[in-house]
Amino acid sequence: MPHPIINTDECSACGICIDSCPQDVLDIVHDAAAVVNEDACIACGDCMEECPMGAIEEIEED
Ligand code: SF4
Ligand code: SF4
Repeated sequence: MPHPIINTDECSACGICIDSCPQDVLDIVHDAAAVVNEDACIACGDCMEECPMGAIEEIEED
């Protein structure tokens, strides 16, 4: 299942991805978005599409 990773250097901590996530996977931790509930991610891609900074990419994991 792919899941998002956040490039914290690009993240502006705007919170848009957190609001866009239907599964409450993301939260702001130490002034940047972070994956806090990875198991709940359904890989919908909404967070990636909504991020204005292009700070989210999806990686495939075994
Ligand atoms: S891919 Fe979807 S479910 Fe997973 S963190 Fe992003 S918005 Fe949430
Ligand atoms: S939408 Fe992008 S810039 Fe905004 S908090 Fe999420 S990762 Fe950071």
